[in-house]
Amino acid sequence: MQLIVGNWKMHGRLASVALVEALVRAGPIPGARLLVCPPATLVARFAETARQSHVGIGAQDCHAEPEGAFTGDIAAEMLADAGATHVIVGHSERRTGHGETDPVVHAKAAAAYRAGLTPIVCVGETLAEREAGATLAILGRQLEGSLPGAGPLVVAYEPVWAIGTGRTPTPAEVAEVHGFIAARVPAGTPVLYGGSVRPDNARALLAVPNVGGALVGGASLTPRDFLAIASAAPGSAP
Ligand code: PEP
Repeated sequence: MQLIVGNWKMHGRLASVALVEALVRAGPIPGARLLVCPPATLVARFAETARQSHVGIGAQDCHAEPEGAFTGDIAAEMLADAGATHVIVGHSERRTGHGETDPVVHAKAAAAYRAGLTPIVCVGETLAEREAGATLAILGRQLEGSLPGAGPLVVAYEPVWAIGTGRTPTPAEVAEVHGFIAARVPAGTPVLYGGSVRPDNARALLAVPNVGGALVGGASLTPRDFLAIASAAPGSAP
C-alpha cells in the first residue's frame, strides 16, 4: 500500500472542501492511501468532511513549541486538535523561504511526535548540488540532522529542482536515492518521491524500488489528477 500525499501549499478556501468531498465520494483505491495537506485554515473543516473515510488530513508545517508567544505560528498540538494525523516538516519552500535548518526541522518533527502526529520529513538537493555530484552527501547530512528519534515516520525525497518545474529525475536516479534513504531509516518507513509528479509519469516513478508513495503539489489540487496518480500505485487497478 503506497501513501499518496497532496501538498496544497498556499492554495484553497473553505469552498475547496468540495475537492475533499470528491475524493471521499470516489471511494478507496486498493493500492493507495490518500492524505491531503491543506493550509492550516482548512485542516479542521477538511478533517470533519473526511472523518470516517479513507482520506486522511495532514498539515504543512508546525512550530516546535506546544504553545507560547509565537505570533503567527501553529503548534503541532493545535493541528492534532483540528484533526490532522500527519504534518509535513522541512519542505524546501520552508528551508529556503523561512531559513529552516536541519536542527529546526528536527525540532518540528519531534514536536509532531509529542502531539501524536506522524512527521513527513522532506529532504532534497538543489540543481547545483546534483550537478556537483553532491546529492547523496547532501541527503545524508539532511537525514542525519533532520530525522527525529523513534516513532512513526514518513520521509519525502524532493529534489528542489523538480518541484513545480515539470522536470523529474530518471527512474534510475530515483532508485539510487531511495535505496540510499531506505538504508538510513527504520525498516518499513515509507519514502515518498516528490517533484512534478503528474498522472503521466506517476506509474514509472511509483514503480521504482523503495518508493513508498508520492508527495504531490500542483496536481493534488485537481481531484481527477490526484486520483489518477494514486491509481498508478503498484497494486491499484490498471
Ligand atoms: C511539493 O510541493 O511538494 C511538490 C512536489 O510540488 P509539485 O508536485 O508541484 O512539483
